[in-house]
Amino acid sequence: MTLTGKHALVTGGGTGIGLAIARALQDAGAEVTITGRRAEILEKAASAHGLHPQTMDVRDEASVVEGIAASVAARGPIQICVPNAGIAEGRSLSKTDTDFWHRTMATNLDGAFWTIRSAMASMKTTDWGRVVAISSIAGLRGLKGAAAYSASKHGLIGLIRALSEDYMGSPFTFNAVCPGYVDTDIITRNVDAISARAGVDADTARSMMVDANRHKRLIAPDEVAAAVTWLCGPGSDSVNGQTIEIAGGQV
Ligand code: NDP
Repeated sequence: MTLTGKHALVTGGGTGIGLAIARALQDAGAEVTITGRRAEILEKAASAHGLHPQTMDVRDEASVVEGIAASVAARGPIQICVPNAGIAEGRSLSKTDTDFWHRTMATNLDGAFWTIRSAMASMKTTDWGRVVAISSIAGLRGLKGAAAYSASKHGLIGLIRALSEDYMGSPFTFNAVCPGYVDTDIITRNVDAISARAGVDADTARSMMVDANRHKRLIAPDEVAAAVTWLCGPGSDSVNGQTIEIAGGQV
């Protein structure tokens, strides 16, 4: 139980990758706060798995500040911060209207920034901390048909790399995990969009994602969670400012 006594906060922790991360951190001994907008989903996940729910909209700075303050008041300083909440929708440039662009940036980038900044204020009162952001392989390479998403996830990696420089030599590390196609609701929601974009049926769209992975399968949320847990454990003390791809060799 390497993380016993640590307070971890996972945004978007009520579903998919975030829930898998929350459960893995809890298995390693952490007290885990999960956040999201939908109280019912959070409460269900929290009571099923012994996690702590906190409603919070990452697109709203005041909501993030309040949500994190309430979590810190209840469970102490956040020592593990996982900005995971995100939206993923592919749109061509001509269909990327300003509202969609801002919505994507506000959720995937502003939200992560506000979360990290608020969490760091409490983490800095301790002598150990980890920030592990959930970016995407779309944050490392351009994802065709998803300019806004790709830009937001590139931005997130830039934020993590810069913070790792700012805090170099401190007891706090900053890394990003970059998944390929992971079997969650995001994939289910995107199948229709991808099939419309590529002019293929839903089964073909899904198999395009499976085929992108050189192991010919979607990735399980637990595989992403394992990487995050390792980045929060003692074996990764010297890993800072890095990106880890969990993508089955997708290029
Ligand atoms: P889910 O849709 O299951 O998870 C997204 C989570 O983010 C939900 O719990 C949602 O909760 C939360 N969220 C979204 N918007 C907001 C908001 N404004 N405020 C607070 N919480 C919000 O999909 P995944 O688990 O797949 O996605 C998790 C992360 O992984 C995302 O950042 C995604 O970009 C990234 N990722 C996913 C990949 C995949 O193939 N699945 C691949 C690469 C990266 P609620 O709606 O209740 O607010």
